[in-house]
Amino acid sequence: MEKRIRAALISLVIPGGGQIYRKRFFSGISYLVLFVFSILFLRIIWNGFHPFSYFILLSFLILWIVNIVDAYKGPYYFTAPCDLYCPADIKPSIYISLLSEERNKEALNKILETVPFPGTLGRICPAPCEYPCAREGVDESIRIRYLKRFIFDNEQEEDFTVSTIRNNGKKVAIIGGGIAGITCGYNLRKKGYRVVIFEREESAGGMPILCIPDYRLPKWVVEKEISFVKKTGVEIRTNVEIGKDKRFSDLQDEFDAIFIATGTHLCNRLNMGEKKLDGIYYGLPFLRSVKLGSPPSIGKETIVIGGGNVGVDAARTALRLGSKVSLIALEKREEMPAYEEKIRLAVEEGIIIKNSWGVSEILGDENVEGVRLKLCNSVYDKKGYFNPIFNENVNKVGRCDTLIICIGQLPELEFLPRSIIDGGGRIIVDKAFRTPIPGVFAGGDVLSPSSAVDAVSYGKKGARSIDLYLRGFRAKLENLLAFTEYPVPSYPLERNPLPDEALTIPVKRKYDGFEEIEGKCSYTAGIREARRCLNCPLRFSNF
Ligand SMILES: Cc1cc2nc3c(=O)[nH]c(=O)nc-3n(C[C@H](O)[C@H](O)[C@H](O)COP(=O)(O)OP(=O)(O)OC[C@H]3O[C@@H](n4cnc5c(N)ncnc54)[C@H](O)[C@@H]3O)c2cc1C
Ligand code: SF4
Repeated sequence: MEKRIRAALISLVIPGGGQIYRKRFFSGISYLVLFVFSILFLRIIWNGFHPFSYFILLSFLILWIVNIVDAYKGPYYFTAPCDLYCPADIKPSIYISLLSEERNKEALNKILETVPFPGTLGRICPAPCEYPCAREGVDESIRIRYLKRFIFDNEQEEDFTVSTIRNNGKKVAIIGGGIAGITCGYNLRKKGYRVVIFEREESAGGMPILCIPDYRLPKWVVEKEISFVKKTGVEIRTNVEIGKDKRFSDLQDEFDAIFIATGTHLCNRLNMGEKKLDGIYYGLPFLRSVKLGSPPSIGKETIVIGGGNVGVDAARTALRLGSKVSLIALEKREEMPAYEEKIRLAVEEGIIIKNSWGVSEILGDENVEGVRLKLCNSVYDKKGYFNPIFNENVNKVGRCDTLIICIGQLPELEFLPRSIIDGGGRIIVDKAFRTPIPGVFAGGDVLSPSSAVDAVSYGKKGARSIDLYLRGFRAKLENLLAFTEYPVPSYPLERNPLPDEALTIPVKRKYDGFEEIEGKCSYTAGIREARRCLNCPLRFSNF
């Protein structure tokens, strides 16, 4: 019998006993004392049944149930700052603690409990968990993102353990095999659902496999992750486009619930006659053809329009194809939507960024020859909405023979029922990602373009909502009883940890190919980095 079930049974008979059995002496004695005093108090005030005595008996019963649940769930740990800031609730504090003990396989399986993308996130995640890291107060934050990659890269595929899953008889369809869709399907499969993911491309993976350049995220990483997802029994039907090869209403007939996670794959147009000229590309198709190994022909001087992640990736890709590259952004440097780290690397690689300029005209007769630019005074209005104000009198011309336009993406929603789309062309969802049609949910970039870790978060939350919708009370009870066991490291937690040098992430300074630029650190360096972690949940908990 599992230890926590035994603990719950002991507390059922002797309040606090289960906690003491699990070496939580303080909690156990507190429950026991509270119980004994409650009985004494009851004896003193008891003078037969009347409405107030029912209230006292009810409180007594609640205390008794709480004591049993507490014995089962185990200690309530202090939430580590990194755990608090992870949008996808991946709990870095736990896998780092396991890694510090060289329990690598367990560390990987901890991440894989709910997230099938450790290698992808370990490479491209903007890592919001690193900003609040408590180690920053001693010297430098733990390299959390890199450690996730380290865990993934050091394990073999056979180390991904898949336990047997019992089918619960319900079927869920997922439209779109990107990060959000796969994460949702993976979490539902683990709960026993039969999951079918419909993906219109030849392979699943979404943006990470279609567009994110190999020098940041090699294809093999996503392929390995997807092969693991398939092992769990998730069925992925590629080359099936919903709306073309199969109707949305067919899915409504066949499945108990549907999750829409089709991302944003339509590029916004400049509409300045770009169709008539050669040498002009849009960001996503450009990145996609390079990723597929058939790059388009590119000139000597490239201008990229757009300061977002797609723009910066397109610029760095054009550079690797041998062109000299400038990037034009409407925003000031600090306002650019691309991740700061990516902008910094782009500048280091030699890309010239021209901030606060917008395009007023595309120049050229047959091939593009340049762009006329106008000064952008401000991009956002007082309410924070995108509303650029230009100074039409301040102009300049940028010369180029290749132009790549990366000014945002839109979702394709024509295949969906009109009743779930609002006037602004967005899918209507509530906080639980439910659309107005019962059983139909949506999440990921299709709701609003964001990041890989947000897509994971959408996938996990979507799965939870679908599970609640299909299993109701049983799913609620399971969530209530969910618990986290924190791995206690064998080394002592020093009060004042000695400063130790943070890991320097190895970066290959080669810009003439598509080899991954971030390199592997040594095994010892990775483990040493994990041991810099302060184990905040243990250090700051009081249980
Ligand atoms: C160039 C680029 C660079 C990026 N860089 C980063 C980064 O560094 N860090 C980061 O965190 N995020 C980055 N992102 C964002 C990140 O990739 C996305 O937030 C994430 O992939 C969104 O996942 P998703 O599952 O919602 O959508 P997607 O990944 O777009 O997946 C949607 C899937 O649905 C499929 N599909 C669409 N319509 C249909 C249909 N009708 N039927 C069947 N299938 C359909 C698509 O083919 C696709 O596979 C980047 C994005 C791009 C484009
Ligand atoms: S020191 Fe460790 S547990 Fe604490 S915030 Fe940083 S990574 Fe998380």
